Amino acid sequence: MTDPAITDYVIPPPAIVAVPVAGGGSFPVRRVFCVGRNYAEHTREMGGDPNREPPFFFMKPADALLTGNADMPYPPASEDLHHEMELVVAIGTGGVDIPEASALDHVWGYAVGLDMTRRDVQNVARKAGRPWDMGKGFDHSAPIGDIFPAAKIGHPEAGTIELRVNGAVRQTSDISKMIWNIPETVSYLSRLVALAPGDLIFTGTPEGVNAVVRGDLLEGSVAGVGSLRTRIV
Ligand code: MN
Repeated sequence: MTDPAITDYVIPPPAIVAVPVAGGGSFPVRRVFCVGRNYAEHTREMGGDPNREPPFFFMKPADALLTGNADMPYPPASEDLHHEMELVVAIGTGGVDIPEASALDHVWGYAVGLDMTRRDVQNVARKAGRPWDMGKGFDHSAPIGDIFPAAKIGHPEAGTIELRVNGAVRQTSDISKMIWNIPETVSYLSRLVALAPGDLIFTGTPEGVNAVVRGDLLEGSVAGVGSLRTRIV
């Protein structure tokens, strides 16, 4: 975050990334965390063991977010761009060692998001035991819909999560099928890092991940939470 009291930056400071809030206002983003393999059927399709192992996390830079249903440029260095439709948690109150019982008190709202993935780049990294960053955290890799305040929509525990590509359903599941639910995810992550206001958590994708090509229209939704749309260009 830039400090408005400091004026002697030697280069222009980066802009604060913000996601529009449904009904007005903007949610300033600090960090973007993502949960890996949080639905059993997706874990199986990726060749993993769906037994309940501890959750694992990776990150995307905040400025990878793509808001306002903007077009997503097909990224360089890949010929296998995949969609991963996800529920996104927006943290409003930070904390460490947050108990599951009070974890939802730290959640300001929810959105839907796409964890777009250069699967070919990620697979090379996986096989070599290298970091996933260049497969996951590239420019424009995180389209996100408007954030809905929990004060208005509550804390969703169930509801259809769906992604359509050119009108055809590609991914469909229910957020109740997450291996680690929202309180468990927030609590676990807060034992790894100090969560802070503005942090987002992409909570993992259900089965059905697949490739997209230029021209495809992606439309995603989570019942009771919101929707997004982006065209690959
Ligand atoms: Mn994902």
